[in-house]
Amino acid sequence: MITKSIELFNRAQQSIPGGVNSPVRAFKSVGGTPIFIKRAKGAYLFDEDGNRYIDYINSWGPMILGHAYQPVVDAIREKAYDSTSFGTPTELEIEMAELIKSMVANVDLVRMVNSGTEACMSAIRLARGYTGRNKIIKFEGCYHGHADSFLVKAGSGVATLEIQQVPGVTTGVSNDTLTAPYNNIEAVKKLIHENKTQIAAIIIEPVAGNMGCIPPAPGFLESLRTICNEEKIIFILDEVMTGFRLSPGGAQARLNIEADLVTYGKIIGAGMPVGAFGGKKEIMQHIAPLGNVYQAGTLSGNPVALIAGFTLLQALKENPAIYTELEEKTSYLHNGLNAVLKEYGTDYTINRIGSMVSIHFSRHAVTDFTSAAAANNEIFKKFFHAMLQRGVYLPPSAFETWFISNALTIDDLNQTISAAEDAIKEMM
Ligand SMILES: *Cc1c(COP(=O)(O)O)cnc(C)c1O
Repeated sequence: MITKSIELFNRAQQSIPGGVNSPVRAFKSVGGTPIFIKRAKGAYLFDEDGNRYIDYINSWGPMILGHAYQPVVDAIREKAYDSTSFGTPTELEIEMAELIKSMVANVDLVRMVNSGTEACMSAIRLARGYTGRNKIIKFEGCYHGHADSFLVKAGSGVATLEIQQVPGVTTGVSNDTLTAPYNNIEAVKKLIHENKTQIAAIIIEPVAGNMGCIPPAPGFLESLRTICNEEKIIFILDEVMTGFRLSPGGAQARLNIEADLVTYGKIIGAGMPVGAFGGKKEIMQHIAPLGNVYQAGTLSGNPVALIAGFTLLQALKENPAIYTELEEKTSYLHNGLNAVLKEYGTDYTINRIGSMVSIHFSRHAVTDFTSAAAANNEIFKKFFHAMLQRGVYLPPSAFETWFISNALTIDDLNQTISAAEDAIKEMM
């Protein structure tokens, strides 16, 4: 029974575009009514009708230790008594920057912002300001937020809604964004050759998570790194999703790759609106007020938001065993789903790295946007709803990775695997 969600969704549509404040929540590609959540604790979401769901969205990543993680809740409460914002420097901002630097190897200076979009948008402006070049290269199916420059062949909601060209983004801006297929180094070389000394930056998700989970092919990121060195192009790793998830040092540490600039969001705010971008001093010193590349924010470094992120990052730093546990749990889920799907003869591919995992209903390997988009969305839709009915909340799009939280128990994972078995049986 989702009576209240249906009522609320009808009401929401009277005053909010599409009833949602971000398109991926709308269930447009899977159909049906978005579930209105009232509260969450640990691994579970509870909706307005009182149903419980095992959560595989985890606010699209931030809740890596589960919902309403007590130290974060306590820290927020305590901080709020001292006022929610000052618009002046605070010591907490230094502590946050120092904590990030202690976890991420190649960050000398870091600037806090309010979202992943802002982080990526600012990193691109900085790369352009630093190099004096205009064009950027991004990859088909990668999502870097909703800034104009990134809405070309973007993943996540743009792919889910099958929007080919976003009205409102000028041709001038779009023309400065060049795209290549993920994992295709030859396509990148060709773009660089055709646009010699015009490319300011290459921006990439080091593990793609906005077209389902797609890990980089061996050597791909390394080749990009080499090309960027040769061509004096700024190499930006968008770690909004992978940062503090794939390891305490993110994808950079896990995959042993160094970016010139990195961007963060999601986990860095523990569910509060926080983002950050940082890198080598030589580049970062061009940001205002040190340099002339202007970037600002009335609420950037907000104390309540920062204390949430700071508390979560500190917990992750102090207890690296969390990452081993996450790895074991995700691998357990992966194996369980594999066994179930294999038995019922569905075409599928499961991609996984660390605690990012997704099922693509395709018999072919999924390595880029074209192969991700070739998967059977009708099967995904049915699977999504069959799982939801059984109390398992998956991201409502095949173009999204699942996010595993460490609050999940083996019992939760077993329930998920048997829900998948029942779901597949029902669908056959
Ligand atoms: C979510 C995401 C963003 C955008 O972050 P917002 O906080 O939604 O603006 C950017 N890059 C990647 C890789 C993301 O997953």
